[in-house]
Amino acid sequence: MLIDTHTHVNFNAFKEDGPDVIDRSLREKIWLINVGSQTTTSKRAVNIAVDFKEGIYAAVGLHPIHLHEIKVDESEVAFQSRKEEFNPQEYRELALNSKTVAIGETGLDYFHIPKDEDFDLVKKKQEDIFKQQIALAVELGKPLTIHSRGTEADPNEVYQDIMAILKQFPEAKGVIHCYSGNLETAKQFIEIGFLISFTGIVTFKNAKETQLVAKELPLDKILVETDAPYLAPEPYRGKRNEPAYVKYIALKIAELKGISFKEVAKVTTENARKLFNI
Ligand SMILES: [Zn+2]
Repeated sequence: MLIDTHTHVNFNAFKEDGPDVIDRSLREKIWLINVGSQTTTSKRAVNIAVDFKEGIYAAVGLHPIHLHEIKVDESEVAFQSRKEEFNPQEYRELALNSKTVAIGETGLDYFHIPKDEDFDLVKKKQEDIFKQQIALAVELGKPLTIHSRGTEADPNEVYQDIMAILKQFPEAKGVIHCYSGNLETAKQFIEIGFLISFTGIVTFKNAKETQLVAKELPLDKILVETDAPYLAPEPYRGKRNEPAYVKYIALKIAELKGISFKEVAKVTTENARKLFNI
């Protein structure tokens, strides 16, 4: 068994065949957490989860790219982000559903800030909304699923900013999703009680640093995820990703660590069940 701890079958990329995708995943004993990025997709994540007795869960939150209107062009999917004002009451209600196991995705994204916007102003707004969601998570005793993406010029800055904010909330717990920073920073997150999660990036030939981080971190601090529809692992790189592919990420981590796939599956599943109280 595996748990895809961060996926988006609640997104439009799965509008046509979402139930089939979930079915394929469950048949392979892969459980999943659908993660919302604004109210519409958070609601959809909860609605999907309540249809299942077990195995399908939701996270609800407002992603930093939805604080402004921007063009997002990932290799698999391009879209125009819809701007939303954070409404704490709406998210609190969604978070109170018994199938909601985390708040997120929330965090900071410096990569997609439009050139014509005031960088510091946008940063300030992202921090403010991030802090409100951390406070909600602490209030409800739920973990956070944290998005972090820096600029190409300084990829580490965003992690340091997130760390500084998390230190203001000693009771907060959660995971740094889709981690692609360096080993030292990953260890700092573990020190303050957070887990580190790996996507298909860890299977990419050129992702030497991420592979080193996965190899060196203790297995009991690691989660696996697809972030589908994005970031499909090898051998599906460039295609639409889906939760069933999370096994390729676990396989790669097993290879990097020189341990069995079974061991990676067992321990990462235990880590996820403990963090998300599943
Ligand atoms: Zn995501």
